[in-house]
Amino acid sequence: MMKENPENAETAKKVHIQTYGCQMNEYDTDKMLEVLRHENYIQTDSRDDADLIILNTCSIREKAENKVYSELGRLRKLKAEKPELKIGVGGCVAQQEGKAILRRAAYVDFVFGTDNLFELPEMLENVSKGRKISQTERHARQKVRNFIPDYTFQKSQNFGVKAHLAITKGCNNHCSFCVVPFTRGVEVSREPEHIIAEAKRLISAGTKEICLLGQNVNSYKANGTDFVELLKSLDKLENLERLRFISPHPKDFHEELADAFVTLPSLCEQMHLPLQSGSNRILRRMRRWYTMETFYEKVALLRDRLPEATLSTDLIVGFPGETEEEFEMTMEAVRNVRFDLIYSFKYSPRPGTRAAEYPDHLTENVKSERLKILLETQEKIVREKNEALVGTSHEVLIEGKHHRKENSATGRTRGNHSVSIKNWEAKAGELLTVRITGANPNSLVAEPLSTSPVSG
Ligand code: SF4
Repeated sequence: MMKENPENAETAKKVHIQTYGCQMNEYDTDKMLEVLRHENYIQTDSRDDADLIILNTCSIREKAENKVYSELGRLRKLKAEKPELKIGVGGCVAQQEGKAILRRAAYVDFVFGTDNLFELPEMLENVSKGRKISQTERHARQKVRNFIPDYTFQKSQNFGVKAHLAITKGCNNHCSFCVVPFTRGVEVSREPEHIIAEAKRLISAGTKEICLLGQNVNSYKANGTDFVELLKSLDKLENLERLRFISPHPKDFHEELADAFVTLPSLCEQMHLPLQSGSNRILRRMRRWYTMETFYEKVALLRDRLPEATLSTDLIVGFPGETEEEFEMTMEAVRNVRFDLIYSFKYSPRPGTRAAEYPDHLTENVKSERLKILLETQEKIVREKNEALVGTSHEVLIEGKHHRKENSATGRTRGNHSVSIKNWEAKAGELLTVRITGANPNSLVAEPLSTSPVSG
């Protein structure tokens, strides 16, 4: 995250970006900041202080447009008090709504789509001349293959110990509940040389852990390089301690990728494998292209090699037409697989998606009741799994001081468990061996095993 002043700090303008949604949006925000730094902007956490405010929107949740408009309503007063303030709306809602945003909120200066964030300098130039801009054009596939241009990267920038790195954008799967193929377009894989170059820049700025991003990250393929080959190239980079990726599709998880978890030292023993439903009929209606049987085979691919690997998933309850029996199949899958973490959602329709047109939607009460049952079961599983970790030792990558506990540091294990380490003056970026001494519902407590960090 950029917070560093540009060269002309005294004349710099201030930008405040409000980010909604997934890691891909957070990544886009970082890229916007990188672009804007070259336009002599610095980041501010305060809206009141900003010369430019950008809402980087997300349309995964229900009624996302309404939320954007109510947020814009709050900015209206600010713009009235400070007419020189520029307001932009980017991200998935902007991609879908386009000019409609400028019509409904006339005080917005510009709207831009998910393919257009690198055109911010031109947009701002036009906005400064009093023009209203709506830039939501999708670029041709070949034009966006290098969809992240290289910017002069300054070592002094305050990049984190952990960083995201987008390797694909868009998705070709068209799951029946999902808007991503409409808002982010078809899948495009980035050139491997560009990914490696960006990884090197991050590492030289102090990043120890890189998480590769893509909507279907493991279907990556560019210039004859597939996902496993890309992982192998990244694993060879000096001083890269940890590598993760999100979000893979089960259909593209195969033996070769499972082997990589064993053979590549930097690839952490942790994987997110979205299941969505435990019922084969619902999976078909979701257009997920795997069955529960094949999902169990995929889990075995990982656990046969690494029994201790942590596994997280996404689940949707109350999908149109889901019967009690089919919901129980999801519960059975949860009890069998014993995920370390689940991201669970009540189904809600997204305009333009196939599932939104299905005739057999369930009531809110039924969906809420099912979600409650799922969460209670999962809470018990996580408690048991976390308690079983007490007494074991782990390598932790320190992220910084604990924000609530004095004299404590916070970090993550290779399995991605959040850990607070008591009485440890550790610095961000250090790797430390710890023993787990306590388990909370969402985190672990530990004491250092070594009196000095494993490496710095
Ligand atoms: S694979 Fe993921 S991003 Fe692609 S359509 Fe399905 S849910 Fe959406």
